[in-house]
Amino acid sequence: MTKRAFITGITGQDGSYLAELLLAKGYEVHGLIRRASTFNTSRIDHLYVDPHDPSAKLFLHYGDLSDGSRLVTLLAEIQPDEVYNLAAQSHVRVSFDEPEHTGDTTGMGTIRLLEAVRMAGIHPRFYQASSSEMFGATPPPQNEDTPFYPRSPYGAAKVYSYWVTKNYREAYDMFAVNGILFNHESPRRGETFVTRKITRAVAAIKAGTQDHVYLGNLDSIRDWGYAAEYVEGMWRMLQADEPDDFVLATGGNFTVRDFVETSFSHAGLNWEEHVRFDERYLRPTEVDALVGDASKAQDKLGWKAEVDTAELARIMVDADIAALSHSGRPWIDEVKLTSWGTK
Ligand code: NDP
Ligand code: GDP
Repeated sequence: MTKRAFITGITGQDGSYLAELLLAKGYEVHGLIRRASTFNTSRIDHLYVDPHDPSAKLFLHYGDLSDGSRLVTLLAEIQPDEVYNLAAQSHVRVSFDEPEHTGDTTGMGTIRLLEAVRMAGIHPRFYQASSSEMFGATPPPQNEDTPFYPRSPYGAAKVYSYWVTKNYREAYDMFAVNGILFNHESPRRGETFVTRKITRAVAAIKAGTQDHVYLGNLDSIRDWGYAAEYVEGMWRMLQADEPDDFVLATGGNFTVRDFVETSFSHAGLNWEEHVRFDERYLRPTEVDALVGDASKAQDKLGWKAEVDTAELARIMVDADIAALSHSGRPWIDEVKLTSWGTK
């Protein structure tokens, strides 16, 4: 029997890798996309097959996490075996500018989807994209037992989603899990997150089309892993015997400055000649240090990050340099670099 998955946030970084992974495993994949005046499907265009073609396995449906009745209708129609809730307003700095919208999408959106599952009368396994931002001010290393102390409207909304997912597991016996993922990046990462902002700037500076890049706090510590590996962990969480919550992380710690230094030096550039400070990129409250302990995922799921942060920076710089020189999309060739996508 072909398994059927429903992915919210399929047009985002993780959604695109997850769709690839599930299609490679033989799933029929249904994705929720937002209607926009411009196309927002560039990360998944290479996966698309005309739905009239009998070999088509990827189907896209208009909808929005703010529209609960649409979610009920869709779920009743699709009858998925697995639901992955990856959609969110996912940018921490933007969540200070749009706190209410972030709460509505990143927080309330989750309960709308959980309720839609119940109202549709279906019993899929449910994955919630929880975040290390929930730990916020609690010092590292952080694991599944670490107390939450969010430092942004985004982090607070994710804490809400974490708890309602856990509550639906306990209240309605749903197979609902939280993947508490530390920062994970790739050549498909949104261009305003610090890693991709840096690696795009390196490519443009190397090509001579840009001189400087403006950044905020260089001192914060993050545990940056490779997104293509993390979606495998999401899938494994839904294949487990029992529903449970898991941290996915590399365990490494890099400052933003370290990421800058590694990326610029990989391209033969001296970062101090090109990086400038702009206070607009500071946050009203910062998360100083996130370093994950993923030993539970290793023990129970057999999942372990293989790509460390330095290797990730090099993958991203190479992809951005290649994309700029060919005016192409970085993610087509880069797919071949991932072993996870073909398992
Ligand atoms: P992206 O920002 O790349 O993707 C977010 C996705 O959500 C996009 O497909 C976007 O659609 C969609 N979306 C946003 N708002 C709505 C809405 N109201 N209704 C329906 N869809 C919506 O995020 P990532 O792929 O990086 O992350 C995936 C998930 O994992 C997110 O929930 C994120 O918060 C969480 N997470 C990410 C981490 C990371 O380091 N990447 C770490 C921990 C958690 P559109 O393309 O139309 O904008
Ligand atoms: P986050 O960990 O989810 O907030 O991911 P980001 O990539 O947005 O930010 C990671 C860290 O980089 C945070 O501590 C930011 O304060 C810091 N940072 C420094 N300069 C910048 C910048 O120009 N843009 C972004 N997005 N973050 C920056």
